Amino acid sequence: TANGDNVKENHGGDTRNLPVDAVINLDHGDPTMYESYWRKVGDECTFVIKGFESLSYFSNPNNPCWFLEPKLEEAIKNLHGAVGNAVTDGYSIIVGTGSSQLLQAVLFAVTTPLEHASQINVVSPAPYYSSYPEIVDLVKSGLYKWAGDAHEFEKDEPYIELVTSPNNPSGVIRGSVVNREGGVLIHDLAYYWPQYTPITSSLDFDIMLFTASKCTGHAGSRVGWALVKDKEVAKKMTKFMEVNTIGVSKEPQLRVAKILQVIADRCKRFGSPEGDDFFEYNKNLLTERWEILRETVKKTQMFTLPKYPLQHCNYTGDVTQAHPAFAWMKCKEGIEDCEKLFRNHKILTRSGRRFGSDPGFVRVSMVGRDEEFKLFIDRLSMI
Ligand code: PMP
Repeated sequence: TANGDNVKENHGGDTRNLPVDAVINLDHGDPTMYESYWRKVGDECTFVIKGFESLSYFSNPNNPCWFLEPKLEEAIKNLHGAVGNAVTDGYSIIVGTGSSQLLQAVLFAVTTPLEHASQINVVSPAPYYSSYPEIVDLVKSGLYKWAGDAHEFEKDEPYIELVTSPNNPSGVIRGSVVNREGGVLIHDLAYYWPQYTPITSSLDFDIMLFTASKCTGHAGSRVGWALVKDKEVAKKMTKFMEVNTIGVSKEPQLRVAKILQVIADRCKRFGSPEGDDFFEYNKNLLTERWEILRETVKKTQMFTLPKYPLQHCNYTGDVTQAHPAFAWMKCKEGIEDCEKLFRNHKILTRSGRRFGSDPGFVRVSMVGRDEEFKLFIDRLSMI
């Protein structure tokens, strides 16, 4: 796909009953792990859309983001309120076709009109999400350009810093690193949900990006949202969406609205029965996978994994560590190309090189189907 997650290569299709010698693709973060929860939910999320419904371009002409479905807006607010991971009061909400489109909308919004002689530098500290350079430079904008690793940004020029927290690929909580005047921060919070990381505060940054892809696993619906403090920025983002795709399809907005509301209603705080809470259920799945992975890695003595601090999660009430959507694995000294090593064992991963880092690292998806994960562990233990 345009954002570098090569979905075509291994279809992301049904991998049940995989043959033992199947190539397993853990390169992209296709969130099929979540199917098990949604199967359990059954028909509660089914919604019917009739032939005469949602024909209009408009969702709410009174909202500055006129293509945002009111039900989605409400569900987004309810979910952030129930989880306590982000403030929504005083923010404009802009919906996008995934947060990938919103990132482009933000870049446009914060760089227009261009008041500088040259394009504005866009940086992110390595290891950074591999799609950023591609998204930023694809159409060779006259407004901004990719300027690489934020740690190495030394120019005395305006900049935009993409702050990914928790980080893709490494799973760590991050803050901005450049900290100079004339900078705009964009917080990509795709993974700031309780299944991945302890929720330690309700964030209130100026520009925050979220996506259903990583929150609920509905990557195929292509729905993301931005929480934006500055009304002018929100207006320009809306303008970008207007020109780019004349808004966002109503059907996925309504579907995601339903899904977010179901999750919000089932949140622990509202006293839902054991196993119903989406975040708790999927946190348990990820915790189990991470325990198995750490045990296997320890046995092989070939790799190392990041360590995450124990923190109190305001949502679950537990003291826990992170269980990220990706394992950022480092090969032991002497193995230069970790991705190749895995490929030789029919495991597709993404090389550290793609994240502006070292080929001694790979990123491995932890959010695929169970069978894929089991095969991965079997093969890993034989390396
Ligand atoms: N930001 C980060 C950090 C991501 O990992 C992803 C998905 N891989 C995205 C943004 C884009 O997600 P989507 O376009 O599916 O909302």
